[in-house]
Amino acid sequence: ELEWLATRDALTGCVNRRSFFKMFESAWDEAQAKSRELSAVMVDIDHFKAINDNHGHARGDEVLRNVASAIVNVIAEDDVVCRYGGEEFSVFMPGTSLDEAELRAERIRLAIKALMTNNLRVTASLGVSSMAQNSASPQDLLDQADKCLFVAKRHGRNQVVRFDKAATQIAQLAVCAA
Ligand code: GH3
Ligand code: MG
Ligand code: MG
Repeated sequence: ELEWLATRDALTGCVNRRSFFKMFESAWDEAQAKSRELSAVMVDIDHFKAINDNHGHARGDEVLRNVASAIVNVIAEDDVVCRYGGEEFSVFMPGTSLDEAELRAERIRLAIKALMTNNLRVTASLGVSSMAQNSASPQDLLDQADKCLFVAKRHGRNQVVRFDKAATQIAQLAVCAA
């Protein structure tokens, strides 16, 4: 029980950031050693602040728990979900190509969209990348997925963006930020 508390996020039961990175690092090393694929997805709930503002923090918490379950229910057995930040989740997917990860991310998007929390609906934006996209580390791979997430937000939310198809838009983000 103590170990569970130390490795989990109390609200959602997802693994916390620290234990996520520990597992992600070993999955990364194993993927490299065995020349296997490895992908990652970032998920960010759309306009979540408005849910808190309009319906209260408790309802917001309930949405977070339901979104976490929706993700857990559609991913593969070896995938690991983390509460990455407030209303952001990350997932790493061992042995999974970018094509497969995109399909799984789309399943996550649809599962979140189908949720009904006390008459409240939510959507999420997702970014996907894989080790084959020349990332240097787990953090780098998540950063790639996070850039895709920004593109998804910029282009209207409630969508999945994958790294290899978003090079131009990501370059534009960099220009806008400069
Ligand atoms: P966007 O579509 O651009 O992602 O907009 P957003 O409103 O989802 O994003 P923003 O970053 O503006 O707001 C995130 C909100 O999440 C703000 C914060 O109060 C809320 N939040 C963070 N952690 C928790 C939590 O544990 N419970 C609740 N209820 N709200 C949380
Ligand atoms: Mg966010
Ligand atoms: Mg958000």
